Amino acid sequence: MHELGVANDILGIALSEAERNAAKKVTSIRLRVGVMRAVEPENLSFLFGHLARGTPAEGAQLEIVEEPVRIECAACGISEARSFTFACPRCNGPDISVTGGDSLSILSLDVDT
Ligand SMILES: [Zn+2]
Repeated sequence: MHELGVANDILGIALSEAERNAAKKVTSIRLRVGVMRAVEPENLSFLFGHLARGTPAEGAQLEIVEEPVRIECAACGISEARSFTFACPRCNGPDISVTGGDSLSILSLDVDT
């Protein structure tokens, strides 16, 4: 149930943004979530909806943009994967560097003032 902590963080950011913009309501939130976070979008939306009840973010839509893991292979360049890996998904070579896939950030926020 680690989505609960994530939902809580998102709500905190959304509410402080709403306050900063003197907004009455947050209508939608666009998030970037890395695949390595293993967040279940449906679960996250459900928990967020629950936590946001009675706040300006009540009823806000969560739009979740998944960020894949990025693999840079010495032999065949860049590819993407759905999880962490120790070998290149294309050539199976071990000479790779793995980045990304662990983001958790708000890309944009729509508010009603
Ligand atoms: Zn490769």
